[in-house]
Amino acid sequence: MLEKLRQEVLEANLDLVTKNLVISTWGNVSGFDPESGLMVIKASGVPYSSMTVDDMVIVDLDGNVIDSEKRPSTDTPTHIHLYRHFAEKGIRGVVHTHSQYATAWAQLGRGIPCLGTTHGDYFYGEIPCTRKLSADEISEAYELNTGKVIVETINGRSDCIRMSAALAYRHAPFVWGKSPADAVLHSQVLEYLAKMALLDELVDPGIKPLEKEIADKHYNRKFGPDAYYGQS
Ligand SMILES: [Zn+2]
Repeated sequence: MLEKLRQEVLEANLDLVTKNLVISTWGNVSGFDPESGLMVIKASGVPYSSMTVDDMVIVDLDGNVIDSEKRPSTDTPTHIHLYRHFAEKGIRGVVHTHSQYATAWAQLGRGIPCLGTTHGDYFYGEIPCTRKLSADEISEAYELNTGKVIVETINGRSDCIRMSAALAYRHAPFVWGKSPADAVLHSQVLEYLAKMALLDELVDPGIKPLEKEIADKHYNRKFGPDAYYGQS
């Protein structure tokens, strides 16, 4: 069942190690199959060195585990909530890491400003940081509430296509894309941008965001209705 998606999600999880986005058992990737309405996600606490396709757990969007003895990632309710809101826009992969530079911004409680065209090529505007969760939101259904605050943040200022990442306040990034591999690519780009933005702010704390006309140009030539970047 869902063997192809399970294989894709396994490869995407292993790719987090290759791309230096995780250490230890941190991080998780999921993939969503719109036809069955089922999601595949990494099992909880499995080391990357011994991970196999059997560690890719199938769950439905109510959180029920299908046909596995393994417990899915503790972040499963966050992933489910993101698919519930973003799948209709074509989102098929979600990644959570504690990649170092992106997490540094999350710990500051700050979004990552768009300071150059590298950022503008992938993310439209500042990559936002969510608000702080309340004590009640943390003590009850913490992972679900993390998903809720991400959706609230994205829908409040952009959409999940133009902005495919958010930083959970004092926690770390959640990133999505049109496949598990696409979400991993966005996570890698996010980490690269987070490091550059930090370097820029260290040298010039007063640096201003990229001017709108050039930000629009770079985003739209790649992803706009009249995109002309790459091969058709
Ligand atoms: Zn985390």
